[in-house]
Amino acid sequence: MAKIMAVNAGSSSIKFQLLEMPEEKVITSGVMERIGLAEGIFTLKYNGKKEETHPVLPTHAEGVQLLLDTLLQKGIVKSLDEIDGVGHRVVQGGEYFKDSTLVDDEVIEKIAELADLAPLHNPAHIIGIKAFQKALPNVAQVVVFDTVFHQTMPEEAYMYATPYEWYEKYGIRKYGAHGTSHQYVSQRTAELLNKPLKDTKIIVCHLGNGASITAVEGGKSKDTSMGLTPLEGIPMGTRSGILDPTVVSYICDKEGKTASEVVNILNKKSGYLGMSGVGNDARDVTKAANEGNHRAQLTFAVQSKRIVDYIASYYVYMGGCDAIAFTAGMGENLCHLRKKIIDRLGVLGVKIDDEANKVMGEEALISTPDSKIKVFVVPTNEEVMIARDTIRVAKIK
Ligand code: ADP
Repeated sequence: MAKIMAVNAGSSSIKFQLLEMPEEKVITSGVMERIGLAEGIFTLKYNGKKEETHPVLPTHAEGVQLLLDTLLQKGIVKSLDEIDGVGHRVVQGGEYFKDSTLVDDEVIEKIAELADLAPLHNPAHIIGIKAFQKALPNVAQVVVFDTVFHQTMPEEAYMYATPYEWYEKYGIRKYGAHGTSHQYVSQRTAELLNKPLKDTKIIVCHLGNGASITAVEGGKSKDTSMGLTPLEGIPMGTRSGILDPTVVSYICDKEGKTASEVVNILNKKSGYLGMSGVGNDARDVTKAANEGNHRAQLTFAVQSKRIVDYIASYYVYMGGCDAIAFTAGMGENLCHLRKKIIDRLGVLGVKIDDEANKVMGEEALISTPDSKIKVFVVPTNEEVMIARDTIRVAKIK
C-alpha cells in the first residue's frame, strides 16, 4: 500500500490529489488558486466534506507547505512519511522524454529548455516540482508528460510538410497533448470492450476547454489532432483549431498587429468565445443556441463537423474502429454535442441510443446494440495515471 500525491501546478495554481495505491482510492483532493495575489483560495475535499479558505499564498512554496500542514492538522495523514511519492503533470516533454521519469537536476533543465513549446505551462511545473522537493526532500518525485503517449505516432503523422530544416533546427512537428487522458480512456475503453488492448482500435474524443482527438491503435497513439502546440485541431473554448496560416498575415496587415498578437487571439479569443460571442463555457453557448441564437448554433455545427472530420480520417487511417470514447467536461456532459457528432457518422453504421445518451459524467455505453462502432462515455482520470506511473517509475512497493 502506498500514498501518492498527483500534482498539476499552473502559473498561479496547484491542483492535487492524494491517492491510496494500488486501490486508486482518493484520500483527499483540492486546489490552491490565486497564488501570488493578495488573497488565495484553498479548496480541500476529504471525508465527503469540501472546505474553502482564503490564505495569503505569496509563492507556490507557501502553498505546498500549507497543504502539507493541513493534511497533518486534519489527520488526513498522521505523518508526512506516509507520502511515498509525488507525481507531477508536465505538459511538454518534446522528443526528449519517451516515458515518465524520476526528477533530477538534468530533468528539470530539460523541462526548462522545452518551455519554448509550452511557455504557459512548463515554467509553472518547474516551480511546483521545486516547491515539493523543498517540502518533501526524501520523497521520490516523478514527472509525467502529456506528450509521451503521442511519441508512438509514426513520422508520417507527426511531420509537417514544412522545410525539413525547421524540424532539424527547431523541432517543428506535432507533439499532441492530453496524452495521459487519452491513454487512460483508451485503456478503460478496451476493458469495456472486453478485448485485449493490443487488438483494439479506439478513437478518443477529449472534449474539455482544451480538446483533442486521438487515434489509438493497439493501445498506442497513431495520430492526434493537436500539433506543435495545443492550438491545432478542432475549435475549443477559446482556441480556433486548425486554419489556413495565411489568416495570420492577413489580419496582421489589416489590423496592424504582430503575428504573436494574432496567434494570441487564436488561442484566447476564438473558438466558442469568438464564434458565438456568448462565452467560452459550453453551458452558456448551449443555452443561447436553445434560445435561437444563430451564432451559438453555428458554433456547435462547426465544431461537430470538424470533430467528425477527424473521426472519419482516423477511422480510415486505422482501417476501422471498435469504439469511440467521449471524455472531459464536454465529452462527459454535453449530450446534444455527442448526438450531433454521432448522427453525422451514420454512414459508418454508428447509431446513438438517445435514452442512454442522457448520461452525464458517468461511464456508459451510448450506442444502440446494432451500431457498427460502440460509443462510450468514459470519465477521464489523469491523476490515477500519474499515480500509476509514479509507482512504476519510482519502484514504490
Ligand atoms: P479543462 O480541464 O480543459 O479546463 P474541462 O474538461 O473541465 O476543461 O471542460 C470544461 C468544459 O466542459 C466547459 O465548456 C464546460 O461548459 C463543459 N461542462 C462541464 N460540465 C458540464 C455540464 N454539466 N454540462 C455541460 N457542459 C459541461
